[in-house]
Amino acid sequence: MPRPRACRPNICAGSASVSLVTSVLRRCGSPTSTGPAKQVASIGLRAESDRVVLSYRCRVGGGEWQEVQEGVPIVRIACRFGGRRPYFICPGAVNGIACARRVVKLYGPVRYFLCRRCYRLAHASQSESAWHRALRRENKIRMRLGGEPGRASSFPDRPKGMWRRTYARLHDTVGPTKPC
Ligand SMILES: [Zn+2]
Repeated sequence: MPRPRACRPNICAGSASVSLVTSVLRRCGSPTSTGPAKQVASIGLRAESDRVVLSYRCRVGGGEWQEVQEGVPIVRIACRFGGRRPYFICPGAVNGIACARRVVKLYGPVRYFLCRRCYRLAHASQSESAWHRALRRENKIRMRLGGEPGRASSFPDRPKGMWRRTYARLHDTVGPTKPC
Protein backbone atom coordinates (compact mmCIF):
# COMPACT_ATOMS: atom_id res chain seq x y z
CA MET A 1 0.00 0.00 0.00
CA PRO A 2 1.53 3.35 -0.98
CA ARG A 3 2.21 5.53 2.01
CA PRO A 4 0.92 9.07 1.83
CA ARG A 5 3.69 11.63 1.69
CA ALA A 6 3.89 14.07 4.50
CA CYS A 7 1.57 16.92 3.73
CA ARG A 8 1.42 20.27 5.40
CA PRO A 9 -1.84 21.86 4.40
CA ASN A 10 -2.29 25.55 4.04
CA ILE A 11 -4.46 25.84 7.11
CA CYS A 12 -4.95 29.35 8.37
CA ALA A 13 -6.01 29.11 11.98
CA GLY A 14 -7.54 32.40 12.95
CA SER A 15 -9.62 33.09 16.01
CA ALA A 16 -12.81 32.77 14.01
CA SER A 17 -12.17 30.14 11.42
CA VAL A 18 -9.90 27.63 9.82
CA SER A 19 -9.71 27.36 6.08
CA LEU A 20 -8.54 24.57 3.87
CA VAL A 21 -7.49 25.13 0.29
CA THR A 22 -7.17 22.65 -2.53
CA SER A 23 -3.42 23.24 -2.82
CA VAL A 24 -3.13 20.76 0.04
CA LEU A 25 -4.16 18.03 -2.38
CA ARG A 26 -1.10 18.51 -4.55
CA ARG A 27 1.10 17.87 -1.54
CA CYS A 28 -0.71 14.83 -0.28
CA GLY A 29 0.98 12.31 -2.50
CA SER A 30 -0.66 10.52 -5.37
CA PRO A 31 -4.40 10.96 -5.70
CA THR A 32 -4.89 7.25 -5.12
CA SER A 33 -2.81 7.09 -1.97
CA THR A 34 -4.61 5.70 1.01
CA GLY A 35 -3.53 4.98 4.52
CA PRO A 36 -3.98 6.19 8.02
CA ALA A 37 -5.02 9.79 8.44
CA LYS A 38 -2.00 11.98 8.99
CA GLN A 39 -2.19 14.39 11.86
CA VAL A 40 -1.32 17.90 10.67
CA ALA A 41 -1.91 20.65 13.16
CA SER A 42 -5.13 19.40 14.67
CA ILE A 43 -6.58 18.05 11.44
CA GLY A 44 -6.03 14.57 10.08
CA LEU A 45 -6.02 14.32 6.29
CA ARG A 46 -6.29 11.30 4.07
CA ALA A 47 -6.31 11.77 0.32
CA GLU A 48 -8.28 9.29 -1.74
CA SER A 49 -8.92 9.20 -5.48
CA ASP A 50 -12.08 11.27 -5.44
CA ARG A 51 -12.22 12.78 -1.98
CA VAL A 52 -10.20 13.92 0.98
CA VAL A 53 -11.14 12.64 4.41
CA LEU A 54 -10.68 15.11 7.25
CA SER A 55 -10.69 14.08 10.88
CA TYR A 56 -10.61 16.52 13.74
CA ARG A 57 -12.20 17.47 17.04
CA CYS A 58 -14.53 20.38 17.33
CA ARG A 59 -16.64 22.04 19.94
CA VAL A 60 -19.74 24.11 19.29
CA GLY A 61 -21.06 26.76 21.64
CA GLY A 62 -18.98 25.63 24.61
CA GLY A 63 -20.41 22.10 24.41
CA GLU A 64 -18.60 18.78 24.51
CA TRP A 65 -15.69 18.10 22.17
CA GLN A 66 -16.82 15.93 19.30
CA GLU A 67 -14.83 13.73 16.97
CA VAL A 68 -15.68 14.55 13.38
CA GLN A 69 -14.74 12.62 10.28
CA GLU A 70 -15.77 14.34 7.10
CA GLY A 71 -15.34 13.15 3.53
CA VAL A 72 -15.16 16.00 1.04
CA PRO A 73 -15.55 15.05 -2.63
CA ILE A 74 -12.96 16.37 -5.08
CA VAL A 75 -13.21 16.94 -8.82
CA ARG A 76 -10.29 17.66 -11.10
CA ILE A 77 -11.01 20.05 -13.93
CA ALA A 78 -8.74 20.45 -16.93
CA CYS A 79 -6.98 23.81 -17.06
CA ARG A 80 -6.82 25.84 -20.26
CA PHE A 81 -3.03 25.57 -20.45
CA GLY A 82 -2.78 21.94 -19.47
CA GLY A 83 -2.92 20.06 -16.24
CA ARG A 84 -5.86 19.56 -13.99
CA ARG A 85 -6.85 21.60 -11.03
CA PRO A 86 -8.57 20.05 -8.01
CA TYR A 87 -11.71 21.57 -6.52
CA PHE A 88 -13.65 20.66 -3.43
CA ILE A 89 -17.35 19.94 -3.81
CA CYS A 90 -18.97 21.66 -0.85
CA PRO A 91 -20.60 19.00 1.36
CA GLY A 92 -23.00 21.51 2.93
CA ALA A 93 -26.77 21.59 2.58
CA VAL A 94 -29.04 24.61 2.71
CA ASN A 95 -32.69 23.95 3.63
CA GLY A 96 -32.19 20.28 2.85
CA ILE A 97 -30.76 20.96 -0.61
CA ALA A 98 -27.17 19.91 -1.19
CA CYS A 99 -24.90 22.85 -1.93
CA ALA A 100 -22.37 20.99 -4.10
CA ARG A 101 -20.61 24.19 -5.16
CA ARG A 102 -17.20 23.74 -6.73
CA VAL A 103 -14.75 25.70 -4.63
CA VAL A 104 -11.04 26.00 -3.95
CA LYS A 105 -11.45 26.90 -0.33
CA LEU A 106 -13.48 25.51 2.55
CA TYR A 107 -14.09 27.20 5.87
CA GLY A 108 -14.54 25.64 9.24
CA PRO A 109 -14.97 24.05 11.50
CA VAL A 110 -18.25 25.32 12.78
CA ARG A 111 -18.64 21.61 12.78
CA TYR A 112 -17.94 20.76 9.16
CA PHE A 113 -15.77 22.33 6.50
CA LEU A 114 -18.05 24.20 4.12
CA CYS A 115 -17.93 26.72 1.30
CA ARG A 116 -18.00 30.38 2.24
CA ARG A 117 -21.77 30.71 1.72
CA CYS A 118 -22.71 27.59 3.73
CA TYR A 119 -20.20 28.49 6.42
CA ARG A 120 -21.79 31.90 6.96
CA LEU A 121 -25.28 30.39 7.20
CA ALA A 122 -24.20 27.58 9.52
CA HIS A 123 -22.10 29.86 11.69
CA ALA A 124 -24.94 32.35 12.09
CA SER A 125 -27.52 29.72 13.07
CA GLN A 126 -25.19 27.84 15.43
CA SER A 127 -24.04 31.00 17.14
CA GLU A 128 -27.63 32.06 17.58
CA SER A 129 -28.73 28.75 19.06
CA ALA A 130 -25.66 28.65 21.33
CA TRP A 131 -26.56 32.13 22.51
CA HIS A 132 -30.15 31.12 23.27
CA ARG A 133 -29.04 27.95 25.04
CA ALA A 134 -26.71 30.00 27.22
CA LEU A 135 -29.50 32.45 28.07
CA ARG A 136 -31.88 29.64 29.03
CA ARG A 137 -29.19 28.08 31.23
CA GLU A 138 -28.51 31.41 32.88
CA ASN A 139 -32.20 32.09 33.56
CA LYS A 140 -32.60 28.66 35.13
CA ILE A 141 -29.73 29.37 37.50
CA ARG A 142 -31.05 32.81 38.40
CA MET A 143 -34.47 31.37 39.23
CA ARG A 144 -32.96 28.49 41.21
CA LEU A 145 -31.25 31.10 43.36
CA GLY A 146 -34.55 32.91 43.89
CA GLY A 147 -33.83 35.69 41.40
CA GLU A 148 -35.51 36.96 38.27
CA PRO A 149 -34.83 35.70 34.76
CA GLY A 150 -33.05 38.09 32.41
CA ARG A 151 -29.95 40.20 32.71
CA ALA A 152 -31.71 43.39 33.73
CA SER A 153 -31.55 42.30 37.37
CA SER A 154 -28.31 41.69 39.22
CA PHE A 155 -27.12 38.17 39.94
CA PRO A 156 -28.98 36.83 43.02
CA ASP A 157 -27.25 36.56 46.39
CA ARG A 158 -26.37 33.19 47.82
CA PRO A 159 -29.51 31.65 49.35
CA LYS A 160 -29.32 30.54 52.97
CA GLY A 161 -28.20 26.96 53.27
CA MET A 162 -26.46 26.80 49.88
CA TRP A 163 -22.81 25.79 49.91
CA ARG A 164 -20.45 28.59 48.92
CA ARG A 165 -18.81 26.21 46.49
CA THR A 166 -22.14 25.44 44.79
CA TYR A 167 -22.95 29.14 44.57
CA ALA A 168 -19.51 29.91 43.14
CA ARG A 169 -19.94 27.18 40.52
CA LEU A 170 -23.33 28.55 39.45
CA HIS A 171 -21.93 32.07 39.37
CA ASP A 172 -19.03 30.92 37.21
CA THR A 173 -21.41 29.16 34.84
CA VAL A 174 -23.25 32.39 34.23
CA GLY A 175 -20.15 34.55 34.17
CA PRO A 176 -18.69 33.74 30.78
CA THR A 177 -22.03 33.85 28.94
CA LYS A 178 -21.47 35.90 25.83
CA PRO A 179 -22.57 35.63 22.24
CA CYS A 180 -20.08 33.46 20.38
ZN1 LIG B 1 -21.68 25.19 0.30
